[in-house]
Amino acid sequence: MVKSSVLGFPRMGVLRDLKKANEAYWGGKLSQFDLLAEGKRLRLAHWKIQKDAGVDIIPSNDFAHYDHVLDHIQLFSAAPERYTSQKLDPIDEYFAMGRGHQKGGVDVPALEMVKWFDSNYHYVKPTLQDNQTFALAKDPKPVREYLEAKEAGFETRPVLVGPVSFLALGKADRGSSVNPITLLDKLIPVYIELLKALKAAGAESVQIDEPILVFDLSAEVKAAFKPAYEAIAALGSAGPSVVVATYFGDIVHNFDVLPAFSGVQGIHVDLVRNPEQLEPVLKQLGPKQILSAGVVDGRNIWKNNFAKSIELIQTAIKALSEDRVIVATSSSLLHTPHTLASEKKLPAEVYNWFSFATEKTKEVAILAKAVTNPGSVSAELEANAAVIKSRAESTRTNDPKVKERQAQVTPEQHLRKSPFDARYAQQKEHLKLPLFPTTTIGSFPQTSEIRIQRNKFTKGEITEEEYDAFIRKEIDFAIKIQDELDLDVYVHGEPERNDMVQYFGERLEGYVFTTHAWVQSYGSRCVRPPIIVGDISRPKPMTVKESKYAASVSKKPMKGMLTGPVTCLRWSFPRVDVHQSVQCQQLALALRDEVVDLEANGIFVIQVDEPALREGLPLRKGSEREAYLQWAVDSFKLATAGVEDSTQIHSHFCYSEFQDFFHAIAALDADVLSIENSKSDAKLLKVFIDESYPRHIGPGVYDIHSPRIPSEAEFKQRISEMLEFLRPDQLWINPDCGLKTRKWDEVKGALAEMVKAAKYFREQY
Ligand code: GLN
Ligand code: ZN
Repeated sequence: MVKSSVLGFPRMGVLRDLKKANEAYWGGKLSQFDLLAEGKRLRLAHWKIQKDAGVDIIPSNDFAHYDHVLDHIQLFSAAPERYTSQKLDPIDEYFAMGRGHQKGGVDVPALEMVKWFDSNYHYVKPTLQDNQTFALAKDPKPVREYLEAKEAGFETRPVLVGPVSFLALGKADRGSSVNPITLLDKLIPVYIELLKALKAAGAESVQIDEPILVFDLSAEVKAAFKPAYEAIAALGSAGPSVVVATYFGDIVHNFDVLPAFSGVQGIHVDLVRNPEQLEPVLKQLGPKQILSAGVVDGRNIWKNNFAKSIELIQTAIKALSEDRVIVATSSSLLHTPHTLASEKKLPAEVYNWFSFATEKTKEVAILAKAVTNPGSVSAELEANAAVIKSRAESTRTNDPKVKERQAQVTPEQHLRKSPFDARYAQQKEHLKLPLFPTTTIGSFPQTSEIRIQRNKFTKGEITEEEYDAFIRKEIDFAIKIQDELDLDVYVHGEPERNDMVQYFGERLEGYVFTTHAWVQSYGSRCVRPPIIVGDISRPKPMTVKESKYAASVSKKPMKGMLTGPVTCLRWSFPRVDVHQSVQCQQLALALRDEVVDLEANGIFVIQVDEPALREGLPLRKGSEREAYLQWAVDSFKLATAGVEDSTQIHSHFCYSEFQDFFHAIAALDADVLSIENSKSDAKLLKVFIDESYPRHIGPGVYDIHSPRIPSEAEFKQRISEMLEFLRPDQLWINPDCGLKTRKWDEVKGALAEMVKAAKYFREQY
């Protein structure tokens, strides 16, 4: 019989209960006892959802109060000494590593947190020492949670981060130079002890995640799998059987590693992202090994296409036999919202197209039955086919006008009228900017007053006229401050924007919005991505009203502010029925019209933000990555190239690591790029000279995440460092990013010093 399995379930609960509990605990409003009880309540509720859905293999230890990699840091006693020496309660030490701790005389910053593969989830990086040791924590969490489930009547399969991935995803602590993978010998005995303890507690099977198998791996990391998994296999009946899980990519390029897994029970692969790896993977499996087929998408919210999934599962069954195939989610469901049942405002037609985590657990169970005993789920299969058909045929999905316009896009539309030098000559004339022009990245403080008025407007408590008048007042205020600061290019401050993607999505055809579909981004922070359901178009201008008003009351050039096509796409749930490049081009065309409209309304500096461009980079080098960069860059160019030479196009990125895709950044052909740089070494800017980058750059001169106000001297220091790498006529002076999370006093204080420093350099040259 084919079994069904879920690789992990979201942790937050129906109403972001975990976020609320954690934050209440951090704020001293909830006791540790109540916090832990809430964690337990959520775990039990999530196991029950999966059991009720009919899932055969239910995960445990997928729950984490902050992050599952951080759980393993504590599990292996790998917390750096600066945390352990504080003698905090385990849970406080844990949170201290996740988010820093500044209380009761203790002051430690958090460990580094980085993106989990190409998702929007962030994990805490194992941070290791030259003399690192490991030991199994007392009362190990995977065992404790396995027993907790068992006691409540749920048989579960514990999920562990694999030993090789744990190390390879880590780094040496500052002051240490250890290559993490060389610590494997020390980690293996602890891992073995853990597996024995799980088996002793009754766990027959575990899921060991080795997601790094989808990366390009160094020979050293590849070689680590063999000793690790031989030791695990050598446990025999003293340990549980093991399914090694990979996701977010294919493993075909790492097939030379697979012999290392010959002693494990089976392999899980992501067949949503890479269905084409099925056949080659089937050929690689040992004679008794099982395949866990990830066919239900853990990264998106669309209803599974049962017919398509069944075809994949049947292929596997034909090659292996029923009892060697498991139907599974492609990855953990961590990246999907809790339940569709919470959505009361979605259009009925669209509601039917979606499946969130809770609904996906039912999908794996149905699929497992569908291949064993189709008659038992015939109604479900029919209903699914009908939904898939309705979506494919819906007028909401297909807009012939959009398709027609896409068919007519020409290569010339991606190009500005003239090369940069000629453009710049005109911009100089037109905008009359000084050397070292100063500007900001767009947003000013989103005060509670702004949120209150926006809420009132959303609820219909104030009229559109009243809300508009309020926004104009906010813009007036932002302009007055910029006058006082004597900045050179102004912004309107974005008071009308709730979020940089949602704001545009709400003004475009082709998008829908949820009310409860939160997904964990890191720790207690969640995001609620809008959903692209159909062809995208712009029924009317989206930002012209505010920008035009701002320009009319400003004596300096006003910068229009848009979110770029790639960022709109990446920070939404995209469609899966058309390629992302097609969706991105649709967004680009909508934005192109906006850019041209802004220009027609007297906005001659236009910034198109693309902070998400980099995170979309496919995980491996090579053709897939090049193809992505091609369409991503083309979309940006299509969105921005419709203007006259005298109009200046800016773009903004929230990072400074361009080294590995510099050619793409250069290909954007933006007149001015603002990037984050204040926390990095100015040396990173060297790539701009090395590559003879001709256009203008504003590397952020101060960190907007901190309330600190840097002094004029610090700004001067920073700017002179930058001038070692950039030409004076090339350098803009601006903060790292938007200022929406700061207070006005902080903004005024820091920008005043920044302007002073810019003026100082202006006099020097
Ligand atoms: N213009 C946006 C702002 O200032 C840019 C935000 C971002 O890059 N994340 O808020
Ligand atoms: Zn930014």
